[in-house]
Amino acid sequence: MRLRNKPGAQERLDSYPQYIIANPAEYKGKWQEVFENDHPIHIEVGTGKGQFLVGMAKQNPHINYIGIELYKSVIVSALDKLIEEDLPNLRLLNVDASELGDYFAKGDVSQVYLNFSDPWPKVRHAKRRLTYKTFLKLYEDLLINQGEIHFKTDNQGLFEYSLTSFSEYGMLLKYVSLDLHNSDFEGNVMTEYEERFSRKGQRIYRCEAKYQ
Ligand code: SAM
Repeated sequence: MRLRNKPGAQERLDSYPQYIIANPAEYKGKWQEVFENDHPIHIEVGTGKGQFLVGMAKQNPHINYIGIELYKSVIVSALDKLIEEDLPNLRLLNVDASELGDYFAKGDVSQVYLNFSDPWPKVRHAKRRLTYKTFLKLYEDLLINQGEIHFKTDNQGLFEYSLTSFSEYGMLLKYVSLDLHNSDFEGNVMTEYEERFSRKGQRIYRCEAKYQ
């Protein structure tokens, strides 16, 4: 993703505290206060411009969603979509995924989505992949027992690496698809990257991995 500085992005984020949670550490262990209900919470790590979570939040009003995105220049586009749709079950956090333990306690989250995560193809950058074992530990520490990660990518190398990483971590792999768009999976909500890559004829890989 090309990252340009977007002038005014910080001011825009600051103007919508009802959608962008500025002080997420305050809600660790009590996210019900934000949503004013105790529906399950699903998070997407690396949410980008937000198309996936906006679609999911519209499709599933009884699930609360939180999008995690590092870059202000990117999350501001997710904010624009959220302002337009005014969804009560979606919030955004402009934070680094490596800090998730500061914001979520064990059991706060019921499901993690990873969609089209940056592949970091060089071996020396493997630790930055969002399916590296240290990230799997971070997700385990905020998920309910036997929580799940749902993962999609166009990148075969990252997919193969991630299947191995999930499996070496002791997770149970479910519904592994090597061609999601030509599978019998129903209710798929496309992300921005998914639309872009599938338009180019690229295959989409998907799997679900469950902690045991
Ligand atoms: N999920 C979106 C999609 O499928 O269209 C965006 C995919 S984009 C390739 C990956 C996104 O993950 C980028 O927006 C990037 O800024 C974000 N990201 C990467 N590492 C992150 C981290 N450590 N914490 C939060 N976001 C991160």
